Amino acid sequence: MQNSDLRLPSRIFAQMDCAQLNESQRQMIETILPRDAFTSALPAGAGAGTLRPLHKPFRITIHHDGLPVPWTNPGHQATADYLEGIRQFHVRPPPEGRGWADIGYHFAVDVAGRVWQLRPLEWQGAHVRGANEGNIGIVALGNFDLTSPSAPQLNRLELFTDLLCHGYHIRWNNVYMHGELASNATSCPGKHLADRVRQLRARP
Ligand SMILES: [Zn+2]
Repeated sequence: MQNSDLRLPSRIFAQMDCAQLNESQRQMIETILPRDAFTSALPAGAGAGTLRPLHKPFRITIHHDGLPVPWTNPGHQATADYLEGIRQFHVRPPPEGRGWADIGYHFAVDVAGRVWQLRPLEWQGAHVRGANEGNIGIVALGNFDLTSPSAPQLNRLELFTDLLCHGYHIRWNNVYMHGELASNATSCPGKHLADRVRQLRARP
């Protein structure tokens, strides 16, 4: 199957080697919610030189959003609004926001286990300072220092990360947690999710 045969993936997954995907992975990518499911805004800084091409991804970093009140709402529209709130915070100029060109992460996995496309994968993210080259950023919604991810969320995060690993020839050894790459101390993606990521990475 050619990339161009796939409706969403050809738009979302630039340069993915779709021949590497199995049937259930191909079905999964058809369920991924495209960017316009949560925002009509385009990346803001296209003319400002703040968006850099991602080129070929060679690593993945897992985050939680880590907000002080843990997000636990599985609702579709509530989640879309929550993601839009994160996007607005990321693009708003400092000191109120981050002043980035767009939402920092490439994908979100929500409480119900849905995957949302955030920043288009053709652009480098803004999710690990100094280490965004070739780095796909996935945020699991919630604060996993305070609560645990839901079972559907954890399951989908694992399957979706595995899909990206297959499609981009990335080994699980190159799936990081934010705290492992960060120059500043951070507990991201939270201790309750970090334990699970370590287990996944340790598989033979
Ligand atoms: Zn993080």
